[in-house]
Amino acid sequence: MFGRAPTKSDNTKYYEILGVSKSASQDDLKKAYKKAAIKNHPDKGGDPEKFKELAQAYEVLSDPEKREIYDQYGEDALKEGMGGGGGGHDPFDIFSSFFGGGGFSGGGGRVRRQRRGEDVVHPLKVSLEDLYLGTSKKLSLSRNVLCSKCKGKGSKSGASMTCAGCQGTGMKVSIRHLGASMIQQMQHPCNECKGTGETISDKDRCGQCKGEKVVQEKKVLEVIVEKGMQNGQKITFPGEADEAPDTITGDIVFVLQQKEHPKFRRKSEDLFVEHTLSLTEALCGFQFALTHLDGRQLLIKSNPGEVVKPDSYKAINDEGMEAYDEDDDMPGGGAQRVQCAQQ
Ligand SMILES: [Zn+2]
Ligand SMILES: [Zn+2]
Repeated sequence: MFGRAPTKSDNTKYYEILGVSKSASQDDLKKAYKKAAIKNHPDKGGDPEKFKELAQAYEVLSDPEKREIYDQYGEDALKEGMGGGGGGHDPFDIFSSFFGGGGFSGGGGRVRRQRRGEDVVHPLKVSLEDLYLGTSKKLSLSRNVLCSKCKGKGSKSGASMTCAGCQGTGMKVSIRHLGASMIQQMQHPCNECKGTGETISDKDRCGQCKGEKVVQEKKVLEVIVEKGMQNGQKITFPGEADEAPDTITGDIVFVLQQKEHPKFRRKSEDLFVEHTLSLTEALCGFQFALTHLDGRQLLIKSNPGEVVKPDSYKAINDEGMEAYDEDDDMPGGGAQRVQCAQQ
């Protein structure tokens, strides 16, 4: 990686678009987005540009990782791909993730949009040995897949009926009276059809999935942990998350979590070991065997005539972690350092 320092740029715009303060909580953001998005939805005659801006602002600020980057470096940093994932989601997808269906029905013929399913994130505990040597782990996960019998329709005939509870919109509106002259109008997904806008008659219900459209399936994934991978690194299986009708299946993401090692500490590609010397060893020389992560014995010894000062470091070249680079696998290695503390 290159040490390119991102330039500071505007990092208040997204807060202004949503009309919240920089210290707004996730809840505040959600409320502000919801209110503004309903008001500015193009189906309701709102400005499409404004609607897009809202979605973009919300997409960034609702993601803690992206929000941190934005707060620190501004919008440009996210455009440079520091946020990961590139961004640029469909504003209608973000809207429908709140309200179930795709947009407001009526007003004539928006085609039903495919929403994107959620990514499933699993932590994956690995030892430092795993990261040093590389390993693979088989994990059995259960996931929803579209029912094979009804092909995700939920019914034997493939037909479904418009939900009577919401007239097929997937949304219900409830009105609350707040005092004498104020009413609050609230939208929420229809409980009868879970926001899908359709129901299946009891007779026509698919026997295999009971009309749920999906069934559970066990799947074994093999996660390859490559040499030199880092704590916190993500390993992605695209399109392996839960399937759902009219939905682009999300990813399964494993996040490596390195367990603490009793002896070695890792700092990027270097490994650190602490070793205590007696005064005699510090003054007159020392030698000891160090067992490496792969079981090899390394002989560590002082140079002739060397006097070791307290808290000093000794480096053994090319015995650190392998450098891991996703783009090109340039071999390289860090050093292993032995910290010598005088007793
Ligand atoms: Zn309904
Ligand atoms: Zn079925």
